[in-house]
Amino acid sequence: MYDYDLLIVGSANADLVIGVERRPAAGETVLGSDLAVHPGGKGANQAVAAARLGARTALLARVGDDDHGKLLLDSQRTAGVDTVGVLVGEVPTGVALITVDPSGDNSIVVSPGANGRLTPGDIRAAASLFHASRVVSTQLEIPLETVVEVVRSLAPGSRFVLNPSPPRALPREVLDACDPLIVNEHEAKVILGTSRVGDTPEDWARILLAKGPRSVVITLGAEGALVASADGARRIPAVRVDPVDTTGAGDAFTAALAWRLGTGESLAEAAAYAARVGAAAVTKAGAQASYPTAAEVEAL
Ligand code: ADP
Repeated sequence: MYDYDLLIVGSANADLVIGVERRPAAGETVLGSDLAVHPGGKGANQAVAAARLGARTALLARVGDDDHGKLLLDSQRTAGVDTVGVLVGEVPTGVALITVDPSGDNSIVVSPGANGRLTPGDIRAAASLFHASRVVSTQLEIPLETVVEVVRSLAPGSRFVLNPSPPRALPREVLDACDPLIVNEHEAKVILGTSRVGDTPEDWARILLAKGPRSVVITLGAEGALVASADGARRIPAVRVDPVDTTGAGDAFTAALAWRLGTGESLAEAAAYAARVGAAAVTKAGAQASYPTAAEVEAL
């Protein structure tokens, strides 16, 4: 009945990556490794992650008519993503400046570029994609009014997944549609409007659920994840791996979770699968280049 298991609406960026011994303080310059340029952006990452796992995936996004845009379209097509919804315009493709330290932790600055021009009108013009998709997933690297229009464009019976990253306060209309809302600790605190420490993830999940989402997933890095709904909360253990680069792990986790939910798995089942995908993604450098196939997830 559905042409796509998953429609990803979101950002497409060129990731400009430099390895550093440590991050510069304000006013300081540090020398890093040679520059590497990779396709990235939360939307593009999620689409590639899902397609590599075998999900029938479409991407709705904007890129510039430039080399970075071509890089992104190529990587989507190579992974098997349907790019019929990728709009090409005059505004430059988004860019993310990423530094990675020896422990694999990253710091990121994003220039939205074309992502900031993905409008509610673009969403309305893509109504046929929404009607053809079982699950729709988005993030916050596109304008908030565009995310609101995504929620309004959902076809009856389709499921909405949101990773509110980078985080900001969300209107009730968006929160109510999330099933689930997927956040890490930092995102949970911004959405909740508190930096209080000492609360457990179970506490954050309970308070987040009271704000409207039908379900909540809290990702906890090497500690795994927590899933919560009206049925209660449950910890999902991480798969033990030696992390190399955590860039894009959350995107792979979210894409895998969204896809598996569409196949009828429970939230806990889908999160357990997603934790394997996230673990596989941290064992390799880069974002999209680190994403596993279904066979690689099985082998983990
Ligand atoms: P984000 O990048 O959004 O902060 P996380 O870092 O929490 O997301 O990663 C998403 C998921 O990937 C985690 O919930 C976990 O299942 C998996 N993961 C991330 N880092 C590791 C790690 N070091 N070891 C094992 N699994 C990991």
